[in-house]
Amino acid sequence: MNVPDWNQPLAALPARCEVLVVGAGPAGSACARLLAHAGRDVVLVDAQAFPRDKVCGDGLVPDTHAALRRLGVHERVMALAHRAKAAQCVAPSGGFIDVPGELAVLPRREFDALLCAAAVEAGARMVAPARFIVPLHDDSGRVVGARFGHAGSTQEVRCRWLVLATGAAPAALLAANLCERRTPSAMALRTYVRHAGMVDEIPNLRFVWNRRLSGGYGWIFPAPDGTFNIGVGLLDSHVLRGDDSTPHKPRNLRELFNDFLAIDPLAARLMREGEVLGELKGAPLRCDLRGAKWAAPGVLVTGEAAGATYAFTGEGIGKALETGIAAAESLLVAPDGADDPVLADYRRRLDGLRPRFEMYRKAASFNRYPFLVSLVIWRARHSQRMTDRLSDILNERRMPGSLLSWRGFKRMMFG
Ligand SMILES: Cc1cc2nc3c(=O)[nH]c(=O)nc-3n(C[C@H](O)[C@H](O)[C@H](O)COP(=O)(O)OP(=O)(O)OC[C@H]3O[C@@H](n4cnc5c(N)ncnc54)[C@H](O)[C@@H]3O)c2cc1C
Repeated sequence: MNVPDWNQPLAALPARCEVLVVGAGPAGSACARLLAHAGRDVVLVDAQAFPRDKVCGDGLVPDTHAALRRLGVHERVMALAHRAKAAQCVAPSGGFIDVPGELAVLPRREFDALLCAAAVEAGARMVAPARFIVPLHDDSGRVVGARFGHAGSTQEVRCRWLVLATGAAPAALLAANLCERRTPSAMALRTYVRHAGMVDEIPNLRFVWNRRLSGGYGWIFPAPDGTFNIGVGLLDSHVLRGDDSTPHKPRNLRELFNDFLAIDPLAARLMREGEVLGELKGAPLRCDLRGAKWAAPGVLVTGEAAGATYAFTGEGIGKALETGIAAAESLLVAPDGADDPVLADYRRRLDGLRPRFEMYRKAASFNRYPFLVSLVIWRARHSQRMTDRLSDILNERRMPGSLLSWRGFKRMMFG
């Protein structure tokens, strides 16, 4: 694959294109690749020069693998990634189970660059850094383009369709009048550590639940070259209580990270003995397929901007790819680009994902009440059937619903 000439100046933006994709994360690049592949004239724009870092756990869970295969880039990603065979789930007691699944870890700097290059390879034109400022409208109010800015200059692009794939930051959604919630759903933070001596000890993605991490969990994900991504997430950091539109005050994530080191011996050793490769960096998440309008005449919202990240685990790369693919496929249903069929098709596709997101929202109670994790892990340690069911959930062959009703939970525990 050729390394694309991505960092083109603002002036390289064309006056017009068919589809203008804003945001070259997984959602935007997936969408741009499919559309360009189908022969559409696509321009992909990002506010940051590429390749760029993205604060993330870098964990590629099974839904990500499936989407990468659909995009035809799975082998390229896996050639660079650390492969893992299981998700190690650690209970507050220290007891753990390894849940089998197709998993991998690749730092987002490389992962996103690879996907973006794949979009360019398919024919998309990439321009960065250029920040989306506002959409442009015609007399009927339909979106027909966007204004971008960089270093004091601005430039306008007209398009048939605008796709916003701008991630968790609400600025672009607010500018497009599509934001329904400014505050994030969750917060998480991570750093990288090199420790070649611990590579054999932590071959799998390690998730740790504990009362002191209540509301979230800690993780250690083994990345390539003897490095590890280590972090904590607070998945209900900004949950709105009942009718109250003011979120409760979130816990300090650095304190939470220190609590993680206090309760997990492997995390403590990694940070004590390893070479820490960067500062702790935090970032927001938008979850539950909520917080933004998905579409309006002339514009589709995709990936984390549309809330496509799971509230239980904070995983969103796979669903960013999937919703980016959905946006592209919806844009292809109407060859003339007519609004109604595209909008209806896209809403139908995202609605189809709702039940799964709803289940993962309910599953967030495992983060709030870690003793539930202890019960499940204790049971799975004594029952291959239970481990198989957890593996089916991880691999998205089964909905987590059976764990989330009292009857289902009882059946799984004692049936
Ligand atoms: C600490 C942390 C750990 C996580 N760990 C995992 C994990 O292990 N596995 C997993 O699956 N998910 C994880 N997630 C979630 C995952 O990072 C997101 O779900 C995913 O990045 C969403 O992809 P996206 O393409 O929608 O948005 P992003 O990846 O955020 O990409 C958005 C792009 O839009 C650009 N942009 C934004 N605004 C503008 C603008 N105005 N103009 C132009 N460009 C703009 C940005 O520069 C960026 O490149 C984690 C998140 C956090 C915060």
